Amino acid sequence: MKKIPHFINGQHYDGRSNRYADGFNPATGEVTSSIPLASNEEVALAVAAARAAFPAWSETPALKRARILFNFKALLDKHQDELAELITREHGKVFSDAKGEVTRGIEIVEFACGIPQLMKGQYSDQIGGGIDNWSMRQALGVVAGITPFNFPMMVPCWMFPVAIACGNTFVLKPSERDPSASLRLAELLAEAGLPEGVFNVVHGDKQAVDALIAHPDVEALSFVGSTPIAEYIYAEGTRRGKRVQALGGAKNHMVIMPDADLDQVTDALMGAAYGSAGERCMAISVAVAVGDVADKVVERLAPRVKALVVKDGMQPDAEMGPLVTAQHRSKVMGYIEDGIASGADMVVDGRGLKVPGNEKGFFLGGTLFDNVKPAMNIYREEIFGPVLCVVRVPDFASAVELINAHEFGNGVACFTSDGGVARTFARQIKVGMVGINVPIPVPMAWHSFGGWKRSLFGDHHAYGEEGIRFYSRYKSVMQRWPDSIAKGAEFTMPVAG
Ligand code: NAD
Repeated sequence: MKKIPHFINGQHYDGRSNRYADGFNPATGEVTSSIPLASNEEVALAVAAARAAFPAWSETPALKRARILFNFKALLDKHQDELAELITREHGKVFSDAKGEVTRGIEIVEFACGIPQLMKGQYSDQIGGGIDNWSMRQALGVVAGITPFNFPMMVPCWMFPVAIACGNTFVLKPSERDPSASLRLAELLAEAGLPEGVFNVVHGDKQAVDALIAHPDVEALSFVGSTPIAEYIYAEGTRRGKRVQALGGAKNHMVIMPDADLDQVTDALMGAAYGSAGERCMAISVAVAVGDVADKVVERLAPRVKALVVKDGMQPDAEMGPLVTAQHRSKVMGYIEDGIASGADMVVDGRGLKVPGNEKGFFLGGTLFDNVKPAMNIYREEIFGPVLCVVRVPDFASAVELINAHEFGNGVACFTSDGGVARTFARQIKVGMVGINVPIPVPMAWHSFGGWKRSLFGDHHAYGEEGIRFYSRYKSVMQRWPDSIAKGAEFTMPVAG
């Protein structure tokens, strides 16, 4: 069994708290690793290492910081398959999907390599007689990231490449369910030439998170995970005067207009609802069928859902792997029971699926409900599993109204061939990330990721220019030289001229 260490001050650090979590391979159900759960002292060690590294790192020219990130990017390219395999063996998603996640993470590193340009200030010459005014952005100090299980590489990469490129030092607390990718990232950063202490990883649970929130030397917290914890971290962090961006849960709808190409719609729903076993914050979990399109959509979907190839994600033909833990599978199965009890029409039931040779794996088949109503729990709450709900609405306006009334607003999609409908949808919908005929519109690295409503607490989205703003502080400098200073004290408010 693998013993997973923390990574503090450029080195592996064996946990000494005597608290451990079991790490599983969800495809086999076997315990494959022991994960240390950090104590307050261990978190404090990581923060102290990051604090000690900050003065030199933040003074390092941005171009030199970028060069280390270029080295890191080359190493990530070289180790893509290895990273993807680590993800599949702990998370369960299929290997090709894990590789996609790795690529999406690398793209943020590529973006962060442009930091000299991204951190450039602005300059106004001669704003008054002999006076200039300029602005610059400076690093915050020690910043921390707390990440969820569902993207063990990509979500940490939403945070630390941008944060360290800006000159901050970082403490990452990855999900205790799949921490190996984060540890490997730390090792590769060290190999790329990152000075000790600039990037640290502590594994842990609520105790480690609370220690990071309470630590006076942590200037900012980035969180991605479920909404109740996002709200808690935002409240506790901002109460202590920290900068916080906390991304929460989702219930992503896909509107299907009667003029949409139904083959494209079916393909899109299959990938977006069942890819990664529905454990994506941008997964489509509600299909909103407009007008008379519902029967046709359900008719096309049902055989495809039944035919999903569900098996160990390392098998090349697997379309969907297991859920992350047995506990999470039970929770999803609870929602399926709740859906039946509340009167939704069960079209495909994924319970009872057996994967030959992997009977102890945490598998669940694809599940499809029709005639789901807005008051049902399976509509209102995030299930985070391979369960798709079809809701029927009479027209486009009802679809928009339904989505805008939902408490979450992470991602949304509209499938149509009408440009006017698409434009109105993009403008009227109260959701942070919109796809027009694109089911999972995760923004590229140089745009920014974030939802609206209870899908994000804070003022900045992740990565892209929003990420640069979050991880740097704005400063304005006004300057003049003695030969342009008039004699005598000025008691009036200075104005240009
Ligand atoms: P989670 O909220 O259970 O855990 C996220 C992180 O918080 C983990 O590092 C965990 O150790 C820590 N944590 C858990 N309980 C805590 C507590 N009581 N106090 C302090 N910290 C705690 O989320 P998860 O199950 O790992 O991930 C799935 C969730 O993440 C889903 O809700 C999904 O929508 C969301 N998610 C959102 C986005 C987004 O961009 N909005 C992206 C990915 C995942």
